[in-house]
Amino acid sequence: MPGNLHDILRETFGYDSFRPFQQEIIEASLAGRDVVAILPTGAGKSICYQVPALAREGLTLVISPLIALMKDQVDALVANGVSATFLNSSLDPEEARLRLSGLDQGIFKLLYAAPERVMNGGFIDDLKRWGVRGVAVDEAHCVSEWGHDFRPEYRQLARLREELPGVPFLALTATATRRVQDDLVSQLALRQPEVFVASFNRPNLTYTIIPKAKPVRQVFDFVQARPGEAGIVYLQSRKGTEEMAAALAAEGIPALAYHAGLEPGLRSENQEAFLRDRVRVICATVAFGMGIDKPDVRYVIHADLPKNMESYYQETGRAGRDGLPSDCVLLFSKGDFMRNLRFLEEMTDPEAAAIARRQMGRMIDYAESPECRRRVLLGYFGEVWPGDNCGSCDICLGTRESFDATLEAKKFLSCLFRIREKSRFDLGMTHVVEVLTGANTEKIRKWGHQALSTYGIGSELTREEWREIGGQLVRLGYARISEDNYQTIGLTEAGRAFLRGNEPLLLTRLPRRPERSATGPSKPLRTGDIPCDEGLFAKLRELRKQLAEQRDVPPFVIFGDKTLRHLALRYPATPEEFLAIPGVGTQKLKDFGEIFLAEIAVWLRDHERLGLTEPAPAPAPARPMKSENGISATALESVRLFREGQGIAAIAALRGLTEGTICSHLARAVTAGVLDLDPRDFLTEEEEQRITATMTARGLGFQELGALHHALGGEIPYAKLHFHRAFQLRANPAPGTES
Ligand code: ADP
Ligand code: ZN
Repeated sequence: MPGNLHDILRETFGYDSFRPFQQEIIEASLAGRDVVAILPTGAGKSICYQVPALAREGLTLVISPLIALMKDQVDALVANGVSATFLNSSLDPEEARLRLSGLDQGIFKLLYAAPERVMNGGFIDDLKRWGVRGVAVDEAHCVSEWGHDFRPEYRQLARLREELPGVPFLALTATATRRVQDDLVSQLALRQPEVFVASFNRPNLTYTIIPKAKPVRQVFDFVQARPGEAGIVYLQSRKGTEEMAAALAAEGIPALAYHAGLEPGLRSENQEAFLRDRVRVICATVAFGMGIDKPDVRYVIHADLPKNMESYYQETGRAGRDGLPSDCVLLFSKGDFMRNLRFLEEMTDPEAAAIARRQMGRMIDYAESPECRRRVLLGYFGEVWPGDNCGSCDICLGTRESFDATLEAKKFLSCLFRIREKSRFDLGMTHVVEVLTGANTEKIRKWGHQALSTYGIGSELTREEWREIGGQLVRLGYARISEDNYQTIGLTEAGRAFLRGNEPLLLTRLPRRPERSATGPSKPLRTGDIPCDEGLFAKLRELRKQLAEQRDVPPFVIFGDKTLRHLALRYPATPEEFLAIPGVGTQKLKDFGEIFLAEIAVWLRDHERLGLTEPAPAPAPARPMKSENGISATALESVRLFREGQGIAAIAALRGLTEGTICSHLARAVTAGVLDLDPRDFLTEEEEQRITATMTARGLGFQELGALHHALGGEIPYAKLHFHRAFQLRANPAPGTES
């Protein structure tokens, strides 16, 4: 038994170095401390208890909430040559007896069990007899009622803590909310635990929000552009999941539905099919969740609006556990939000409805904010992302382009004006768009709107494009949507002023290049991607699938995608070369070395060796990194143009960024003291007072621009809030801010 931690990591798991926090957690645990490890999905929590289990004498007990996952985890350990087992209700009596006798003989290093099993009469005595030396509580947030998967059985574990006084406990979770984190320390009765909290940033995930138009088509285009990749499509309703899966299947994409209404046998069959790469896409309600340990989910698409930011983070978090670049796409429609609001009105508990409404509001702020998605998302969990450009969200990548929308805006707004003039009331967005595009609907005939001068003046754009323009005009305050059930859209004072004046207006849209699909750019090679011989990679994946089917385990138990990509990059020819591949330990070399080496040799007989270069190891920042003196190059470029006398709109157009982004650049330069501006050029005294009053009344800080925007009824644009923040911070620099 190797005792050195690095040796265990290399020989058993095939990894060269620890990821951030792993070694600290392992050492604290081996020193006998109770430890709480709060690391995001994909950070490598399993290693944190598996390595100490191998480094110490005796048995380590792993508490895991899901029977389905235990088997996969144990299979993965056994594939690495680790002696591990699990006990749960799925075993037949004979099998269970064998395992118990193995435990009596001390042949296992790790034992997985569900909490209800642990607290069964007699089991604690068994544990003592078996010489348990460590306990890991996986998915420890299950102990908290504030979490999303509360399991009452977890509450019993405090007693286990008491019964095993000399044994260190290690609680692990990926939960980002503070309330749950605090709760789990007290609920598990941990003894002065050492707590490790990593950044919740998921560097390999790219966040994109796309206006929802034709969801089935948008999802299809996206999936189609990623052959061979697996993904999850989240939908709100059961019916929606079935329709989406059927539509994709009809287009030749293997897809299945998953929701709580399916008969249990079929449900686990569909889940299994996804885990084992028999289908590429699973269309699911949020019932599809914690059981998903599939490491190579390459994208998560939300075709409907998630319930709140926490769910969104959790659900998108299922992408890219293996650390390879993956996409999170939200198809956003304000209509979804309005529909959900109406559901809330039917809720009987007004307090719960108010909370739900507030949470949904934060989700809308996120979707509509012109700020970096990553910054807003992490900000929601109280983490400040100080970098300026995250490089992997639609805002920072500047995937939207600005265009001169003066004419379009005038058409839209005068259509609102004419409708009201004629009918004396406002109508919904759909109707306005139909009038603009000259549709022939019953409503139009009924109200005589085909006679309006604005009827059909917008036929050059699609209805979706008009909707998007309308949405942006609402956000800019030129139009307003009524708060009642009808959600009619009407002109505001600012809108009238714009119609009368001759100010130009820039809006943003997705670039209209034909080679781009409706869901954005076709799949780019991103930082962190491992370039490799894609043909060989596909071949090795096929081989992996066969081996997995033979052994009745999920493919990732054999090798992860990262390992296969390295194989298809380096073409190892000898066992030594094979062992040097990340994810290959001594056991896997023994079991799979020959067959994979043979496959690679056969491939090289018919194919040329591609001389691709190895990617430089990506710096995996455990914590968000600060850019130099707080200002990035991209912000400085905006500042430079501004100093040259360019206006904000012009800079945005020139740089292909949104005006909001340019404002945030300038605002940051103000905070940092690089740029001196007069507050009165950007916001009125009255606006300033309103913002300050709202912040005081709601107890909001500057990190919560989204919440502030919401609290102000969306009436003060983000750009102004950015500036307000900057002027305030310049006047009273807070500790820790860029200066
Ligand atoms: P989590 O439980 O935190 O979501 P996992 O334990 O499933 O994460 O690990 C995620 C992935 O990272 C797995 O594929 C795992 O093998 C890999 N991994 C973990 N630690 C390391 C390491 N030190 N070096 C390389 N890969 C690692
Ligand atoms: Zn970003």
